[in-house]
Amino acid sequence: MTEKTYGFDTLQIHAGARPDPATGARQTPIYQTTAFCFRDAEHAAALFNLQEVGYIYSRLTNPTVSVLQERVATLEGGAGAVCCSSGHAAQIMALFPLMGPGDNVVVSNRLYGGSVTQFSQTIKRFGWEAKFVDIDKKGEISKACTKRTKAIFCESIANPGGHIADLPMIAKVAEAKGVPLIVDNTSATPWLCRPIEHGATLVVHSLTKYMTGNGTVTGGVVVDSGKFDWTAAGKHPSLTDPEPAYHGLKFHETFGPLAFTFHGIAVGLRDLGMTMNPQGAFLTLLGIETLSLRMERHVANAKKIAAWMEEHDLITEVTYAGLKSSPSFRRMKMICPKGAGALFTARLKGGYDACTRFIDNLDLFSHVANLGDARSLVIHSASTTHRQLSDEQRERAGAANDMVRFSIGIEDADDLIADIDQALKAAHG
Ligand SMILES: *Cc1c(COP(=O)(O)O)cnc(C)c1O
Repeated sequence: MTEKTYGFDTLQIHAGARPDPATGARQTPIYQTTAFCFRDAEHAAALFNLQEVGYIYSRLTNPTVSVLQERVATLEGGAGAVCCSSGHAAQIMALFPLMGPGDNVVVSNRLYGGSVTQFSQTIKRFGWEAKFVDIDKKGEISKACTKRTKAIFCESIANPGGHIADLPMIAKVAEAKGVPLIVDNTSATPWLCRPIEHGATLVVHSLTKYMTGNGTVTGGVVVDSGKFDWTAAGKHPSLTDPEPAYHGLKFHETFGPLAFTFHGIAVGLRDLGMTMNPQGAFLTLLGIETLSLRMERHVANAKKIAAWMEEHDLITEVTYAGLKSSPSFRRMKMICPKGAGALFTARLKGGYDACTRFIDNLDLFSHVANLGDARSLVIHSASTTHRQLSDEQRERAGAANDMVRFSIGIEDADDLIADIDQALKAAHG
């Protein structure tokens, strides 16, 4: 199959998959096996030397996971991809070949809460530093970059505020500084936005969200565009110089545009072990088969509901880039013209107490710490994920006391509107 010539709807079903060579099974089988038999000693040696591509042990590679890797790489327009155990694992896997102790990454200050903690606290244990910037300000990004900056990181559509990043501008700064741009495309998915087309080098996803789309899997992926010249930049020795963790192999020289992908498997998965399991990969493949259909409905529902909420007496503000009133609306037309996703926040009259009463009175919406499910989800961040912060810190983090985060599902929009309406009334009872 010459995949480049097919449209998105075709590729989301077929890319990477072929009938099982052993049985003819049409759906991709779950290869629930830890190890794979070598044909003979010579075959084993070739595999371990990376002279032949094949399966050794499922911590590194597995046929079910490989299909998913090829599918996501194709949908994102990348050269290769490495799946891993979660979205957060994908972020570490993306930085791991680039960073060493004393190095830093310049990151947007509009990020998923868990990513803020990972970058501001946990990566310090590796001797890495994150420098937070306003990703809209070209000068601020530029100024934050030092000799030890190894990457720039942002979200295409930021979770939960819906801010859309000016990817071409950020990519230009990254290029001038000789560093890759890493884009977290979780909230957008490749159906709404393909960051590589806007200049991104690497794309990471939490497959947990829209890609699987039904709240059954925890998974992640790193996609490499294959376009970054690691040698010219001379800043990423793990990819250009003899890699001591793989008996002196030079990844860029040996694998060209697949250097990052091979390093991710041969060193990253081998030594960090953040592997995706074949069962999870299978469920994600099933989810991706309907990605465009689901995203189209997610966006249509979110637009209708956000517009209705914006007019509601008991709601003071709705931050959704798909609304004409949003400051991100014009940028949406450039970066993700099919829509701004289905994630937004709203401020409710009556503050903290009205929000918790609202949440408790919803019937259809589930109160959970997740997003991107076929089901509509909601969370009051101030009383849950951002509980330990002060009022001022909550406000800055986009988790103010009067703010509720909505992840709009693919149910009937009118049923969701009726549910929100009755819960708002009950909250003000
Ligand atoms: C959920 C999420 C993550 C983390 O993904 P996990 O699969 O939960 O580890 C990272 N970035 C964004 C934007 C997310 O929504």
